[in-house]
Amino acid sequence: MPSASMSEDEKVFKDPVHGYIYVHDPVIWALINTKEVQRLRRIRQLGTASVTYPGGDHTRFSHSLGVYEVIRQILLAFERNNYAWPHHLDRLAMVSGLLHDVGHAAYSHALEPVIGMRHERWSERIILDPTTEVHQVLNEVYPGFAQHVADVIGKRYPNPLVVSLVSGQLDADRLDYLMRDSIFTGVDYGKFDLARIIRVMLPKEDKIVVRKSGLHTVEAYLLARYFMYWQVYFHPVNRSAEVILRMILERAKLIHESLFMPHPALRRLLREQSEMSLEDYLAIDDNVLTNAFNVWSSATDVVLSDLCRRWMGRHLFKYLEYPTSNLKAVFDIGQDVASLGFDPQYYCVVDETGTVYYDYYVGGEGTSGKEGALFLWDDEKAQLIEMSRLSKPISAIARERQMVRRLYLPEEVLSHPIIGPRIVQRMAPSDVR
Ligand code: CA
Repeated sequence: MPSASMSEDEKVFKDPVHGYIYVHDPVIWALINTKEVQRLRRIRQLGTASVTYPGGDHTRFSHSLGVYEVIRQILLAFERNNYAWPHHLDRLAMVSGLLHDVGHAAYSHALEPVIGMRHERWSERIILDPTTEVHQVLNEVYPGFAQHVADVIGKRYPNPLVVSLVSGQLDADRLDYLMRDSIFTGVDYGKFDLARIIRVMLPKEDKIVVRKSGLHTVEAYLLARYFMYWQVYFHPVNRSAEVILRMILERAKLIHESLFMPHPALRRLLREQSEMSLEDYLAIDDNVLTNAFNVWSSATDVVLSDLCRRWMGRHLFKYLEYPTSNLKAVFDIGQDVASLGFDPQYYCVVDETGTVYYDYYVGGEGTSGKEGALFLWDDEKAQLIEMSRLSKPISAIARERQMVRRLYLPEEVLSHPIIGPRIVQRMAPSDVR
């Protein structure tokens, strides 16, 4: 087991986002060297995004180090400015940042609907289970420390300041992944002035807020988030790869009994998630899945082998925009797809996703766990002002849920001389009710 002893020297990682990532705390160093954190080297941060952006192959490991580093820098800035901050909780905050994604499933979020459990729950399990190396390191700090870390990640920890540093509207997680995803994909307008954001942040009452002078810096951050959603996270080709991945897993789940499993944990994953042990879960990384897809490319099941060959060769599905829900059109298109010999269950797929860029109704309707208001601190008036009241661009993108709806089909179907135009016609605006 990695032990929490370290020579006096600081440890340094070179990192394209932060320049350097510094580790002084032997507990952080021991955690980085656990097998559960090292597993994150084998999980891509963006899942399928490198089908569109070949540089976007960075891992959850570099992101986790990055979140730790952002928290470390914020805490240093708070200390320099003598802000009222519970510095005895600094280690808890940094450890929670480092471990917040430790339970992430392979291929980002594509696996979660198949196994029906969110990665945050697995993160907590890994932290609390006495058999993991992560737990053993945490337990050496003091009994109950592991529980505190799980509580911060699960947003139950009683100090809201520490929780909001790890998950909030302007948290270290988002600050790192937006910059990191932008730099690695090459999508330049996803960048913002991270150093300045850290300089204008301050703890006020029970939340982390921003000095009013930092308004434009925070606007740039929120707009960067908006751009990244459209350019990367909602990108139709990335989503196409994710659709194929999902269909492969659905198909493999259906026929698992007769299917050769290149890794024994896969059978339990596909059979019954409740049968999965922590060890099984940790065994499944991007490499295990990619290897399975490669092997299944020559499976006897026609649907599975075809989907796997499409995945391996990047022969992705094409898509039609599907702005308004129209089940009748989708049903008819499914019949068209079936007439060409494709099972519509796997070859005529509606993909829906969406987000709220900024939601200022704390706990209000349309608020998912992460959303919440961002406040600016007005020094002269000594009061907090909600961001969209001062910012025209932010009030323009606030509150509304942006939905993306697309229908994915094989290229062969859409390019068919008779069926193709008929499908496009069915989806045409005049046909949409
Ligand atoms: Ca994260």
